[in-house]
Amino acid sequence: MEVLVAAGAWAMSPISNYLSTQAGSRLFPRYENSTFESNLFEQLSSSAHVYFPGSEGFNASTTRWSTLDAPNVTITVEVANEADVVEVVKFANEHGKPYLVVNNGHGAITTVGKLQNGVQIWMRQLNSVAIAPDSQTATFGGGILAKDVTDGLWAAGKQTVTGACECVSLLGAGLGGGHGWLQGRHGLVSDQFVSLNMVMADGTLQTIDQNHELWWAMRGAGHNFGIVTSVTSKIYDVEHPNWAFQMLVFTGDKVEGLYTNINEELLRNGTQPVDIMHFSVFINNPALDPVNPVIILFILQEGVDVVDVKYTQSFTALGPILAQAESGDYRDLPRWTAMAKNDDVCKKHGLANTRFPIDIQAYDIPAQKKVFDVFASAIKDTPALNSSLFLFEGYSVQGVKSVPPQDTAYPFRESNLLLAPVVAYKEDGEQLAKKAEALGEELREILHQASGQKELRTYVNYAFGTEGVKSMYGYEQWRQDRLHALKKKYDPQGKFSFYAPIA
Ligand SMILES: Cc1cc2nc3c(=O)[nH]c(=O)nc-3n(C[C@H](O)[C@H](O)[C@H](O)COP(=O)(O)OP(=O)(O)OC[C@H]3O[C@@H](n4cnc5c(N)ncnc54)[C@H](O)[C@@H]3O)c2cc1C
Repeated sequence: MEVLVAAGAWAMSPISNYLSTQAGSRLFPRYENSTFESNLFEQLSSSAHVYFPGSEGFNASTTRWSTLDAPNVTITVEVANEADVVEVVKFANEHGKPYLVVNNGHGAITTVGKLQNGVQIWMRQLNSVAIAPDSQTATFGGGILAKDVTDGLWAAGKQTVTGACECVSLLGAGLGGGHGWLQGRHGLVSDQFVSLNMVMADGTLQTIDQNHELWWAMRGAGHNFGIVTSVTSKIYDVEHPNWAFQMLVFTGDKVEGLYTNINEELLRNGTQPVDIMHFSVFINNPALDPVNPVIILFILQEGVDVVDVKYTQSFTALGPILAQAESGDYRDLPRWTAMAKNDDVCKKHGLANTRFPIDIQAYDIPAQKKVFDVFASAIKDTPALNSSLFLFEGYSVQGVKSVPPQDTAYPFRESNLLLAPVVAYKEDGEQLAKKAEALGEELREILHQASGQKELRTYVNYAFGTEGVKSMYGYEQWRQDRLHALKKKYDPQGKFSFYAPIA
């Protein structure tokens, strides 16, 4: 501990900042030869970096999308290759230091706050895309973001399932299932995996594929078992490059009509057409409605230049206050839906961003009215919460449902809708935090009660952190037994138990 404090003070000095931004500097071990950090640095490749508190790299690597319960990190190691990951894990194990792998810091579950005095393993350099000679698969670096996957493949006329948001990593999303634009065609992000190269809790490297005992668990509960340094996934020809987008904005008095239409015209009892997706959001926008939140509806259609009027006419008839339509290609979807790399939703604003997810089958109209009213009055009563929003995601689901549920650890393939209030606020004491959490829980509970589902289904990658293991990984006893047995075998000391832990 003393050494760390000393190293921390030293780390504030200009020479540390110089070293921590120089690729391959070997000065560091000679300068401070006896510390944990200097010995670690000696093991790393020439493109790796070590960042201490106070340095630019440390700040960049530890600034998170949500400030709530951020992990406590004393050093960031920016790894440059698989061997570096092995070295960090072995070294940290030898020195009894906990560690957490991070790509872009968008993982917001509060359980990561249990990491104290930890080593952060920053994966941003592991962002390669290599298409196999047969063009059926591609191998991606373990830290790659969705946008880099899409752009890397698009140039070759290929695509694969990623999260919808450009700033989220392929594996941060994929290890918990991974929802995205192409899931109706091909399934979840994790359904594309063919093999994973992974650093295990003991620092050894293993290839996890269909012949490995962990194959099942890595597709839904994968954050719990190791650090994936690269993934080989199925890729597809771009068969329908063009897409169309229709945005309609409504005042809150249309909430019942709007969700009735979504149920009837789009969702259709779980048979939403594979080429159609819809998203809606309750959001505060005083320029459009100074009193209440507005409801934004996005309808996206694949393979056309204009969204078919049969999907839009009932919504147009409701009388939107704003309408906008565009045509483009697959790469435009994040921009249209405000989920592109530079959009506000991706940025780190210094807010606690807390989500309270629930999967359901269809909209209950009185419940939609009730959550709108509760949401509207809560952000009026507590202006500190007025950056909050409520997200309703309606991807097509054919590809997800085509995989037998027992084949993977992802537990909720039958779900049609992924909903989550996102309660956002600048942290300002316990009272506000409690109020925010209570609001998120209340909104979710209204939907849960109305869903008729006994059990709460929580998408693990949106979880707040208090939902419990069954809610994130499934209620069947065989799932729980299998996950716990694998965890006991492959990570008995809980090295990978900070993000949505099984145990
Ligand atoms: C703005 C926004 C948009 C989102 N959009 C989507 C979406 O469209 N679809 C979707 O499914 N989810 C989405 N999510 C949820 C997202 O899947 C999770 O927040 C996920 O944890 C983010 O991963 P990250 O790598 O970006 O974040 P990080 O915080 O860097 O990583 C999250 C966790 O993933 C684990 N991890 C990351 N990389 C590896 C690896 N290589 N090996 C092993 N473990 C690893 C670590 O435990 C880490 O703590 C979104 C989240 C946000 C904030």
